[in-house]
Amino acid sequence: MENFDTFYCDGGWIPVAGRARLAAFDPCTERQFASIAVCDADDVDAAVAAARRAFDAWSATPVAQRCAALNRVRDGIARQVDGFAADLAQEIGAPLWVSRQMQVPMPLRNLELAIEAITSMALETRVGHSLVVREAVGVVAAITPWNFPLHQIVAKVGAALAAGCTVVLKPSELAPLAARRFASIVHEAGLPPGVFNLVWGDGPGTGAALAAHSGVDMVSFTGSLAGGRAVARVAADSVKKVALELGGKSATILLDDAPLSDAVSTVLRQCFTNSGQICAAQTRLLVPDALLDEVEALCAQHTRDWIVGNPDDQETRIGPVSNRRQFETVQRHIDTALSQGARLVAGGAGRPDGREQGYFVRPTVFSAVTSDMALAREEVFGPVLALMSYADEEEAVAIANSTPYGLSGGIWSADAQRALGIARRLRTGQVIVNGAPQNLAAPFGGYRQSGIGRENGRYGVEEFFELKAIQGGCTHA
Ligand code: NAD
Repeated sequence: MENFDTFYCDGGWIPVAGRARLAAFDPCTERQFASIAVCDADDVDAAVAAARRAFDAWSATPVAQRCAALNRVRDGIARQVDGFAADLAQEIGAPLWVSRQMQVPMPLRNLELAIEAITSMALETRVGHSLVVREAVGVVAAITPWNFPLHQIVAKVGAALAAGCTVVLKPSELAPLAARRFASIVHEAGLPPGVFNLVWGDGPGTGAALAAHSGVDMVSFTGSLAGGRAVARVAADSVKKVALELGGKSATILLDDAPLSDAVSTVLRQCFTNSGQICAAQTRLLVPDALLDEVEALCAQHTRDWIVGNPDDQETRIGPVSNRRQFETVQRHIDTALSQGARLVAGGAGRPDGREQGYFVRPTVFSAVTSDMALAREEVFGPVLALMSYADEEEAVAIANSTPYGLSGGIWSADAQRALGIARRLRTGQVIVNGAPQNLAAPFGGYRQSGIGRENGRYGVEEFFELKAIQGGCTHA
């Protein structure tokens, strides 16, 4: 077991002053692999003070120089793909294929896009006699979850640093390994002291202290709805900017002309990958009444392909869920769905056959799910798909829009115009037509209770600016 006794502050690793400790567990073995010293208010103060001191110089550093530093960070990540994959296997049970295809390539691409964005962005615009200037917002608190630990760190830190902000990161207490490796890469990349800092700790303690801190100008949070609400509340006292990336209950609508087998296998992938621990997972599949039997049969057939296993096993498509709380949450949702009358099509409660330990769950599909059931409304954050049937397109759109969330959605149809028409009616930050791949240059974020603000590409960088109007700044022209 490893001890994490230092945090990254002002260009080096220094001892944590806080006395409390947290444990992190390997989800395959349930054994503790790390004991983490929790940063207290003094540690948070030190990190914020370092970021404040570094801000003026970093925000005034020429874009090309900031980008050169970010490119060194990018190259450092690219050199350590295997190291990150090993970290993620241990701390969240991510299968190696998920790390190699998603967990590490996504942040690499995100950094490249942040660099491209800031390089090509007009930072000064003339508006009549005014000069409108984009200026870095200041010190950013980045608070991140455990499901795509490196991706979520880089989406915030890369964009904020590109914009000229300095950062204090509080990664998930459940996933310290990838965060520490990232901090070491930043250190090796030679960023000036204080530009990037990392504090360890839990949400209500360290996270809240950071979000509330008067020396922080903006909080960028990714996590649960409850965590996002708490962060927004404590940030309100000092009226700081808040960006929130929260949960989802995304619905894919299968139209009657959809290619069924392709659609079902793709939606299962969009629901089960990373053990269903994807905020934008497609967890509701809306099916025309007449096609429900056929879709149920396809779900049962394709779910068998989702082999549950250890992260380093080549056959594994699903590892465990990442922690005990998540395991129990998934079991509770399955039990509730059964008791509320949903029909089990595949999977079910308990661990898969042959597994007696580890947070392994069975990829599960329910049918006959109705809008009043918990499974239709609440985020499970596990590999559980709800099939819901509809009579016509009006009803399909109404069901899709009927949760408080609005992160993602999908449409399948042979008719591109018909699909686009429905895509425009979904109240979500993203809609995936016929399983189109994720485009990291496009904005990512939620409507309604899925969040505030956008990440990725130039949209992500734009979040970290203030706009200044210099009246009369253009009168010389
Ligand atoms: P979580 O809210 O428990 O924790 C996320 C982070 O916030 C952690 O670092 C945690 O320590 C911190 N935190 C928690 N409570 C806090 C508080 N009161 N004050 C300050 N910080 C606090 O979420 P999680 O369980 O780590 O992640 C799963 C959730 O994240 C899911 O709901 C998922 O949908 C969501 N998520 C959203 C996105 C997105 O981009 N929209 C991406 C990934 C995950």
